[in-house]
Amino acid sequence: MEKLQYDIKKRTSKIELPTELGFGKLFTDHIFEMEYNPEKGWHNPIIKHVENLSVHPGSMFIHYGQAIFEGLKAFKSVDGRITIFRPKDHIQRLNNSAKRICIPLVDEEFLLYALTELVSIESDWIPTNPGESLYIRPVIYGMDPSLGVKPSTNYKLFILLSPVGAYYPEGFKPVKILVQDNYVRAVRKGLGECKTPANYAASLLAAKEAKEKGFTQVLWLDGIDQKFLEEVGTMNIFVEFKDEIATPKLNGSILPGVTRRSVIQLLKDNGKNVTERGISIDEVIAAYKNGTLISLFGTGTAAVISPVGWLTYKDLKMTLNNGEPSNIAQYLFDQLSSLHILKVEDKYDWVVQVNNEEVEA
Ligand SMILES: *Cc1c(COP(=O)(O)O)cnc(C)c1O
Repeated sequence: MEKLQYDIKKRTSKIELPTELGFGKLFTDHIFEMEYNPEKGWHNPIIKHVENLSVHPGSMFIHYGQAIFEGLKAFKSVDGRITIFRPKDHIQRLNNSAKRICIPLVDEEFLLYALTELVSIESDWIPTNPGESLYIRPVIYGMDPSLGVKPSTNYKLFILLSPVGAYYPEGFKPVKILVQDNYVRAVRKGLGECKTPANYAASLLAAKEAKEKGFTQVLWLDGIDQKFLEEVGTMNIFVEFKDEIATPKLNGSILPGVTRRSVIQLLKDNGKNVTERGISIDEVIAAYKNGTLISLFGTGTAAVISPVGWLTYKDLKMTLNNGEPSNIAQYLFDQLSSLHILKVEDKYDWVVQVNNEEVEA
């Protein structure tokens, strides 16, 4: 790989972050970019000022969706260090998504280096109130102007940064979920396990209709029989039974979440009986009726943990744990939030620390 280039414009004014950051509305000054062609491979790596992309209207990703992305977060630790949570796992997953969509793989070590350089340069943008973070969005897309359906030969990768607010500005609150059986998100052997825009396009109408009925999100069932639990909104799902915490096993249509993996590890280390297996909606309902269902919660980088307070399936309205977060959901949220900022010791080596030295432009 060529040497990383820098074209940095120093700010003349101080960064003033609004009190309500929201999610993904505000962007930092600089972006990382590199390009791919078959002769040079990935080349031209540069950190530069954010500008509009110049995209030919024939670019393949616009027409046929050949694109993938990631989402991860950087934080300021309790003692002022810069931390990134599990970046190697996210970069590995980017390459896994790339394989399925015929996108050329990236050098994982180099991308981690470029990512930490970018975060270091933009570290003044990392918000520091509890729950706030700098969201990191790597994207790769096919650039060829061509309407023939085939993999592109040229690609662009960029990493965009966005300071984001706490997911729960009014505290850790359970959400209202509708079990969706009119639409499916993904099918086995399809794109479900890739982080690709197509899966999000497939989810929009179901989420919109659920919102119109007063729900926060939908619980997705499997694409074949609409019988087994898959995910909740854009998060993985865990079900707390009396003697077991279960999550759907990765069967090809489920996104292998990094938060999901962290939660499994934390639960195991706490001696919990955590399983990865098929969980049918009938089993959840039966457990609700016989009193052995405690709660459900979603896991993902954006919300960390999202407790489900109310679950509706057809005519059945279920209230879980009196509409309160379960002890386990609360524990996982606190523990992961503490790990992010190194308030507790990171014995797993999940956190990558970033040098905060001045980078020469
Ligand atoms: C990104 C994503 C998740 C959560 O993955 P994390 O690595 O935990 O952020 C879950 N489901 C879908 C569909 C996703 O796109």
